[in-house]
Amino acid sequence: MSNNKYKILIVEDESNIRSFIKTILEAKGYQVLDSKNGAQGKMMFSSYYPDLIILDLGLPDIDGTEFIKEIRQSHKVPIIVLSARTQEKDKVQALDLGANDYVTKPFGTEELLARVRAALRNSIHGKETEDGQMAFSLRDLMIDYESRLVTMNREPVKLTQTEYNIVALLSENAGKVMTYSAIIQAIWGVSDRGSIKKLQVNMANIRKKLGIKPGANPYISNELGVGYRMYNE
Ligand code: CA
Repeated sequence: MSNNKYKILIVEDESNIRSFIKTILEAKGYQVLDSKNGAQGKMMFSSYYPDLIILDLGLPDIDGTEFIKEIRQSHKVPIIVLSARTQEKDKVQALDLGANDYVTKPFGTEELLARVRAALRNSIHGKETEDGQMAFSLRDLMIDYESRLVTMNREPVKLTQTEYNIVALLSENAGKVMTYSAIIQAIWGVSDRGSIKKLQVNMANIRKKLGIKPGANPYISNELGVGYRMYNE
């Protein structure tokens, strides 16, 4: 297995979920470190510097969002957050604090593995590590950041300035869920009551112009109630 070089740290207090995740990751050849609370998780992080952290938000000793804040002060390691349905607000906060992705409990094996692969790929091939990268491509979609030109199947896509800015922002963060408020902040600077509606209207136009049919060949996923994600494969 070529995954062997990746070390993944699980921080989760529920032992059955912790061992479930450990089992499926080890079966795929990942090295797994597991901890049952925030303090132990932090200790393991600074001893082993894992390539990825899977973090439960509801920990017995510290809030998962606090954990993210501390890690993000000095590290870019990808963080996937595990949250319960009752923690919707925390999930959004976690993403705004710098978590890369989230998985809602209960989750399936394939879903978790896909998120893990995407987060690892992003940290290695993402824009952050390739400064100076001036173009983005995803299947038939190409974005040239210098000329601000978007093409689909080599045909130019006519986007408004705002639509282009949204597409460019999502592509620069491909693989990562961007919350509504993060997008609104980046595009318009301020948010008001109409901001989400304005964003949704722009997204609907973008999808139409890119020729994305509902459910088919998605370049951008709509994370209901949370935000949007440009795929990175
Ligand atoms: Ca928990």
